This record gives sequence, structure tokens and C-alpha cells, in this order.
Amino acid sequence: MGQKGREIVKMNVDELINLLNKALSDEWLAYYQYWIGAKVVRGPMKDAVIAELTLHATEELAHAELVSTRIIQLGGTPVLSPEEWLKLTNCGYEPPFNHYVEEILNQNIKGEQCAINVYNSMLNITREGDPVTYNMALGILAQEVEHEEDLQALREDLELMLLKSK
Ligand code: FE
Ligand code: FE
Ligand code: MG
Repeated sequence: MGQKGREIVKMNVDELINLLNKALSDEWLAYYQYWIGAKVVRGPMKDAVIAELTLHATEELAHAELVSTRIIQLGGTPVLSPEEWLKLTNCGYEPPFNHYVEEILNQNIKGEQCAINVYNSMLNITREGDPVTYNMALGILAQEVEHEEDLQALREDLELMLLKSK
């Protein structure tokens, strides 16, 4: 734990660590949802969808890296057990029982919209009291916004393609 780094945080650090552990749980679940989605997805445009899901999985893992590093800087302990992920998560986990491309895209779009809310609210909470966490949340938020748009664009392409083939 960095002493001065923690001193300059002008907010309740324990509450902040708790919020960060909730976000960390979301990131691991998002990582796996993308990763397993890329394995099982079936249907038109499968290859383009697999490429995007796989890339997003690695980006969610990078978010987990950033969030856990921040927890440690604040003197906290990153969530230690996968069992905790489902208890702490804001966004939950939806198993891709239905392997069809559009269903998997829809599930992940929902997840991204939840992630956008999580980091947007983290920005509001840290704006005055913790510029370092604020800066981290801003970077992650920008990427979640990109993820949502990538998936919605894929869904639109899919709809246009299916329309044309009728
Ligand atoms: Fe993420
Ligand atoms: Fe994302
Ligand atoms: Mg992308």
C-alpha cells in the first residue's frame, strides 16, 4: 500500500474498495461470458462475431487487471474466490444456453450497458475525492462504450444481411 497515495484519497476508502471489488467481479464474469460465447456461437457472421468476442474478452481481463491493481494501491484485497463473483457482481452472468449469434450478441450488449452504468456511477462517486480511481474508471468506461457500439453494429449488420436474403 502506498501511504501518501492513500492519504490523498478524500473519501471512504473501505466503501471505495468494496465498489472496486464489485466491478472486479463484473469484469471476470464479463471475461468468461465473452470467452465462452466465442467458443459456442453459431449462425451467420459467426467468424466476425468470434473475432470481436475474443478481443473483448482480453479487454475485460485487462480491466480486471486495472481494477485489482487499484484495490491493492488502496490497501484492499482483490476478491479471492470465484464464488464471491456472483455475490458481488452488479451485472450478473448469463450463460449462453442459446448459441445463436443474435442471442449471444444481445446478452453481451446487456452486459455492456450494465458496465457503462457501473463505471459512470464510479466516476460520479470519485470525481472529487479520488482522481486516480476517477481516471481509471474513465478509461474503462470509454472502452465499455466502444464495446457496446461494436456489438450493436454487428447486430445491425446481421439484421441487414438476413433482410437482404429474404
Ligand atoms: Fe470491462
Ligand atoms: Fe466491455
Ligand atoms: Mg471491439
